[in-house]
Amino acid sequence: MSGAPQPVISNFIRSIIDADLASGKHNRIVTRFPPEPNGYLHIGHAKSICLNFGLAQDYHGKCNLRFDDTNPEKESEEYAQSIQDDVRWLGFQWDGEVHWASDYFEQLYQFAIELINKGLAYVDDLTPEQMREYRGTLTQAGKNSPNRERNVAENLDLFMRMKSGEFADGSMVLRAKIDMASPNMNMRDPAIYRIRRAHHIRTGDKWCIYPMYDYTHCISDALEGITHSLCTLEFEDHRPLYDWVLDNIVIPCHPRQYEFSRLELHYTITSKRKLLQLVNEKHVSGWDDPRMPTVSGMRRRGYTAEGIREFARRIGVSKSENIVDMAIMESAVRDDLESRAARVMAVINPLKVSLTNCDGAQAREADFHPNHPEFGKRLVPISKDIFIEAGDFAEVPPSGWKRLTLGGEVRLRHSYVMRCNEAVKDASGQVIELRCSIDHDTLGKSPEGRKVKGVIHWVACEYTLSAEFRLYEQLFTVPEPDADKEKSFLDFINPASLTVVQGWVESCVKDAAPETRYQFERLGYFCTDRREHQPGGKLVFNRTVTLRDSWTKE
Ligand code: ATP
Ligand code: MG
Repeated sequence: MSGAPQPVISNFIRSIIDADLASGKHNRIVTRFPPEPNGYLHIGHAKSICLNFGLAQDYHGKCNLRFDDTNPEKESEEYAQSIQDDVRWLGFQWDGEVHWASDYFEQLYQFAIELINKGLAYVDDLTPEQMREYRGTLTQAGKNSPNRERNVAENLDLFMRMKSGEFADGSMVLRAKIDMASPNMNMRDPAIYRIRRAHHIRTGDKWCIYPMYDYTHCISDALEGITHSLCTLEFEDHRPLYDWVLDNIVIPCHPRQYEFSRLELHYTITSKRKLLQLVNEKHVSGWDDPRMPTVSGMRRRGYTAEGIREFARRIGVSKSENIVDMAIMESAVRDDLESRAARVMAVINPLKVSLTNCDGAQAREADFHPNHPEFGKRLVPISKDIFIEAGDFAEVPPSGWKRLTLGGEVRLRHSYVMRCNEAVKDASGQVIELRCSIDHDTLGKSPEGRKVKGVIHWVACEYTLSAEFRLYEQLFTVPEPDADKEKSFLDFINPASLTVVQGWVESCVKDAAPETRYQFERLGYFCTDRREHQPGGKLVFNRTVTLRDSWTKE
């Protein structure tokens, strides 16, 4: 897969853009990715990033990174930094400086004054309970607040005093004056400003009123000259409000909002709030735990940016709700790693084999990749004792068994053909060691007069290095962990999602840098841990993905 560019898969958004460019409505597109810095990015965000930045790339337009920082209590510099790192790691660069909704706080305030002056916004001091009651329900129209008819002068005065800090948090809001009987609840005079004394990561204590998301988002888009404002389907009902705000202020640009379906993945969750809970309650080791569906977690696990982008390409963009199978993600990653990772041998569940006739046996040179000679070669030496995978020996083999059994032969990968002569057992009858012999006439050539079908991986005890292997399974035991109304998603955490084993690996990986990827033959793709792996010291490998799709049953 890596190498040649993959064909673009068209979608309804591309059709809209094509039409807008053809009609001359726009001659250049501008998109944006607007995260709130209140958590780390996850795979759903990666879809949105690939869409927004990908469109800008394909159409030679621009894509902004804009932080939607209107909720000071939940936002932090750490999150904002991690988001920038993740976007860059995914292979994208935003146009110019990073933008922040807070850059526009003064302008947003002036637009609110404009709405008040036009009789289109009013200050309301109903209590939250009254507010709820006046709002009505889905089947029942709301009622006008008694404060709806306040005059402009009074509204201006109250709003300025809200800003200057005269009133308590939550005691009043500024509302857009739209329609309390609208069938769309979002249009029933939504709050556009609230009072909140909270320290903001960028504006500090300058403001004690903060604009609401719906009001902020459309104006920020317009100020940045966004042409196509792409968001997920739950914002469809907010689009009339997006348009109402822009239609009622003097602003020279009116971006159009288009909605696409959220990405959901089986066996995982894509809710920032729940991911935060997993971190806070220490169900995982942190945001970048390799089991997390976060960009940093997937990176630490060994997924490549190219693999994630390929996944986004394969799932496409549409308006239909669906939950994507993990197998699609894993195969995109696997296809990318196939030609990227050097292949070496490791043994994670060792069974010792002593070779009774090893004297004079030779090391063989082996390619790091069968199709990429440029990856180079290394020597694969053999020694008197070797480790094989315990599962590659069966005393009573099932039918069709091609691996080792008593009296049988296998090829040791990149080395000799070996025959098993004896199984040594402990008191409980468990096989603890094999005694085998090699056929000295089989290095790099087939044995005389017989066929040996099985090939197994192994390491030579004398030359091997000890290493830690972290093997992962899905974090949840059910495909839709947050679908159960009665139970918490935490009840479905998979207790076996992480297995740490000590094993052995060829010595050629000794100085591998953090984030080096390998295929350990027959075991899967692995990546040296970004945090804990030490080149030349403690070796730590995370299993990125197994070699075959283990999610769908054969
Ligand atoms: P919050 O509830 O905190 O707002 P959020 O998931 O919407 O959570 P944002 O930081 O607001 O997080 O999201 C940034 C952008 O990523 C938005 O445009 C949003 O539509 C998009 N996005 C978020 N989750 C997904 C998802 N699962 N699939 C596709 N796009 C997503
Ligand atoms: Mg959001």
